[in-house]
Amino acid sequence: MSTNLPFSEVIHFNTCSSPTASRPGTVSLVGAGPGDPDLLTVKALRVIQQADLILFDRLVSEDIRALFPASTPAIYVGKVKDRHSIPQDQLNELLVTKARQGLNVCRLKGGDSLVFGRGSEEMLRLKKDGIEVELVPGITAASGCTTYAGIPLTHRGLSQGCTFVTAHAEKDLNVSWSALAGLNHTLVFYMGLSKAGMISSELIEAGLNPATPIAFIENGCCPQQRTIVGALSEMTELVERESIKSPALIVVGETVKLSEQLQWFSNLSEPEIQQLSA
Ligand code: SAH
Repeated sequence: MSTNLPFSEVIHFNTCSSPTASRPGTVSLVGAGPGDPDLLTVKALRVIQQADLILFDRLVSEDIRALFPASTPAIYVGKVKDRHSIPQDQLNELLVTKARQGLNVCRLKGGDSLVFGRGSEEMLRLKKDGIEVELVPGITAASGCTTYAGIPLTHRGLSQGCTFVTAHAEKDLNVSWSALAGLNHTLVFYMGLSKAGMISSELIEAGLNPATPIAFIENGCCPQQRTIVGALSEMTELVERESIKSPALIVVGETVKLSEQLQWFSNLSEPEIQQLSA
């Protein structure tokens, strides 16, 4: 299967159908980082190159997919636009089945598998069946995207820490807004784009200054990266006015103020960006 497929490609479940092997294979849960192939770890690349089968998510960029060996079967298991994603249970079973067939599986996810990536759920399921699992950390979006946007997560005198929060929840969002507002340090929201209005109003209601600097980082660490900076009170307006699209990260805090002085990636020309990955 070609690895440069558009997201609309259909999911293929049974590309390798060998019988159960006497010795099970292993599963490597690998973080692919936020998009730039140069941000893959050496270990991640080695696992990709040596795997018998690759199962990859939507956030694994096209440039990273281009590194999959042409002879290795690769199955897209991410969300297909306007269609349901593969239910997690079914995906877990697929991993178990393939490992039992003796295959060494590379389960490749965007960013880090253990940061809002359900990697630990997959590992628990695999362990239950005695399947050997290896974890390969990746650069999580909060680190990679802010670095490419020139926004430090911490900065002496401005922010003594940072907190990663998901704005997505299967049921109710279990977040203490007053605790977040009181931290007085950098907040990074994953999956927050559709909840921008709620994030803004809850933080303001909890006491955060409406003028607190915020940034949206869209398509971070990719040639199309955009950073949109503004104030906490104008988050909804910015999403609409700038037509901000997923994947996007929301950064809230004083260090956003440094983005103009510290920008470097957005200053690069297209050929210079290509050169970075050459
Ligand atoms: N495991 C991943 C996060 C998965 S949740 C990690 O460690 O990075 C998916 C969310 O991550 C997206 O909705 C978006 O908020 C953020 N994200 C991931 N990659 C991104 C990118 N390249 N640019 C901006 N946001 C990104």
